[in-house]
Amino acid sequence: MRNTPPRVIPRRQALRKLAVAAGTAAALPLTALLGNSRSFAAEVSGKASKTAVRYQDHPDGASFCANCANFIPGPTGDSPGTCLVVAGAISPKGWCLAYAAG
Ligand code: SF4
Repeated sequence: MRNTPPRVIPRRQALRKLAVAAGTAAALPLTALLGNSRSFAAEVSGKASKTAVRYQDHPDGASFCANCANFIPGPTGDSPGTCLVVAGAISPKGWCLAYAAG
């Protein structure tokens, strides 16, 4: 086994590289880092955004949220519920690409 000495970066050079990296990060607009607030909320919740799954607030034929395995009903039959995989309020009459017959 060959022993090679660790590469030493001069302190001044290291600080310069760090300053360039910090300046680049600060120059990026916050929206470029986080996207819009809805997609950010979806990422934080671990669920897909409505846009990503092409959610619509009306059925796709006989397929709709109320008969989807992912739907969590609201307090009444007509009120919005939630979904296991899509972020936000979900209409029982809605539909999306993640539909799973329930
Ligand atoms: S996966 Fe799609 S179709 Fe199923 S409940 Fe969620 S939003 Fe509705």
